[in-house]
Amino acid sequence: MAGITRILVVEDETDIAELIKHALERSAGLSVSIVASGDAALKAAADAPPDLMILDLNLPVLSGSEVCRILRARPATAQVPIIMLTARTSEADRVSGLDLGADDYITKPFSLKELAARVRAVLRRRGRADDGAAAVYEGAHLRADFEAVAVHVDGDPVKLTRREFELLKFLVENRNRVMSRDRLLERVWGYDRDVETRSVDVHVGRLRAKLGAAGPQIETVVGLGYRFVE
Ligand code: CA
Repeated sequence: MAGITRILVVEDETDIAELIKHALERSAGLSVSIVASGDAALKAAADAPPDLMILDLNLPVLSGSEVCRILRARPATAQVPIIMLTARTSEADRVSGLDLGADDYITKPFSLKELAARVRAVLRRRGRADDGAAAVYEGAHLRADFEAVAVHVDGDPVKLTRREFELLKFLVENRNRVMSRDRLLERVWGYDRDVETRSVDVHVGRLRAKLGAAGPQIETVVGLGYRFVE
């Protein structure tokens, strides 16, 4: 990645914000600024959209989810990657954060190492998205050529149904990112279909079994959905 990557941390708890800043700025090329309110975040993002935003959900006055919603609605900031910070207890908040278009979330208390890893993953993903989606995924076991519609695990061809293939493709394209069942239904099945969310679980289960050694790369995120991990 060329140049400086600018990260905006939105957190009213100064200690936490400072810790994040110090941890991230240990990586070369990252410059972190801090704002303590949603208003300030919207203003800073409007003046100069950051390359990534770390947004605390629990902010005074304007909540993190409000800020996220507004950022996504504005063309200048619609594409800014957002990692949400949430409290461990509020699963509903996490779901709403992802539904609002956050790229990832991390629950408090979190390790700074994990946060830094998430930041790198989101930035990598964004870099790839800018280059155009790769047609071929190659992991330790899995090789999926989405243009040729060919999937191999440890060199052996895997036969997938069209639905399973689309499901794999969508999960891989959004790797390291939690996809809710509703999102999967919308993208893989389409709105017109009268499919129950349970059906997603069944298809993911079958897909995982067919992928054998690569199956565990599709993680269940309890209460949220699924994530393809690298
Ligand atoms: Ca806070």
